[in-house]
Amino acid sequence: MITEENIDVLTRTQHIVRQALDHLGCDASMYELLKEPMRLLTVRIPIKMDDGSVRVFKGFRSQHNDAVGPTKGGVRFHPQVSEEEVKALSMWMSIKCGIAGLPYGGGKGGIQCDPRLMSTRELELLSRGYVRAISQLVGPAKDIPAPDVFTNSQIMAWMMDEYSQIREFDSPGFITGKPLVLGGSQGRESSTALGVTIVLKEAAKVRGIAVAGSRIIIQGFGNAGSFLAKFLHDAGAKVVGISDSFGALYHSEGLDIPYLLAHKDAYGTVTNLFPDRLTNEQLLIQDCDILVPAAIENQITESNAGRIRAKIVVEAANGPTTQLATQILDNRGVMIVPDVLASAGGVVVSYFEWVQNNQGYYWPETEVQEKLEKILVAAFCKVLHTARNQNVDMRLAAYIVGLQRIVEAVKWRGWV
Ligand code: NAD
Repeated sequence: MITEENIDVLTRTQHIVRQALDHLGCDASMYELLKEPMRLLTVRIPIKMDDGSVRVFKGFRSQHNDAVGPTKGGVRFHPQVSEEEVKALSMWMSIKCGIAGLPYGGGKGGIQCDPRLMSTRELELLSRGYVRAISQLVGPAKDIPAPDVFTNSQIMAWMMDEYSQIREFDSPGFITGKPLVLGGSQGRESSTALGVTIVLKEAAKVRGIAVAGSRIIIQGFGNAGSFLAKFLHDAGAKVVGISDSFGALYHSEGLDIPYLLAHKDAYGTVTNLFPDRLTNEQLLIQDCDILVPAAIENQITESNAGRIRAKIVVEAANGPTTQLATQILDNRGVMIVPDVLASAGGVVVSYFEWVQNNQGYYWPETEVQEKLEKILVAAFCKVLHTARNQNVDMRLAAYIVGLQRIVEAVKWRGWV
């Protein structure tokens, strides 16, 4: 059966890009250029596994558009990585960079593998093999990778080391999300959650909700969800619900977030400690002021959007709300802060890391946080203003704002 959830992520992204370009008054040739990445490299990486066998892993690097500047975006290690997904994710990165006003276009990479089933040695060989395979296409002034699903600062360190050996000079600006000692930035690890917190506070202001005392549900307790729970708890909010892939916890008076943080494992699992669990589906429709999906895609769909009780949905995850659900929520007056805006904190601090690497001068965490806040508050205001002025939902407004810079740059360069 073809449902909205089954339509591939690239087709959905192209649909909204086309709408945004129409609002920007662009002709068909601009859509023709921007509907797909400008470059896509497919690589096959042979690895000698610990048991003596050889496995060949398939990987990709997609560069959506480099009219504004070098492309930027993470590398994910996941069995379901596909060409379509990597292409769409590189387009989302273009939009995120555009919204935040960063001098980048969007990029994304991935390798089809399951890192949970690989040894440290195999992971290191794969990380280094991937860099060798894509080395002609990437670099500090060309395309700058970063962590994504199931990749971390150790993997970034191996990749940076491999690139530096190929180029024969130290190249910290080749990749972001590195350990501090190798040129990482203060505040990078919690940057996505801090960004979500900043835009959530702006959205709450618009809706007349005080964050202190407000009731918030967070779906997902991994990197994004757990740091977010901490920030919101520290801000005096009642985090009434959290979840992971095993189930959900809900308490109308607020959960004990410090306790849950102390007991979560490296994969963001904590609810297995409690026998009385709700399902993730039940959690999403519990009473709250603000709902933050921070787990996986396609969680708010046409089947539950009518029952969501939150007044604001802030999308920390990529693609958690389908297009039909977006319309249902919008018609019901629920404010959606879309993923390309809400989760942009990670790429903004990645940009700060790259700037610091280029300068060879490093900033304290407070400076990183202040700069992040300035950028995201301005981005939120711009998207809200566009939504109101052009009478469109916040998601389309975000795409209009994000694509505007690329369109301008493409025109100045005379490409279209
Ligand atoms: P993570 O792997 O650290 O955590 C994911 C969490 O979601 C875990 O708690 C896991 O148990 C839970 N989960 C997995 N499957 C689930 C399911 N079927 N139902 C409910 N919960 C489930 O991932 P993360 O880095 O926190 O990323 C979460 C989301 O935020 C993803 O959509 C990611 O693309 C997006 N995002 C993350 C970052 C970042 O810097 N971490 C940046 C931008 C966007």
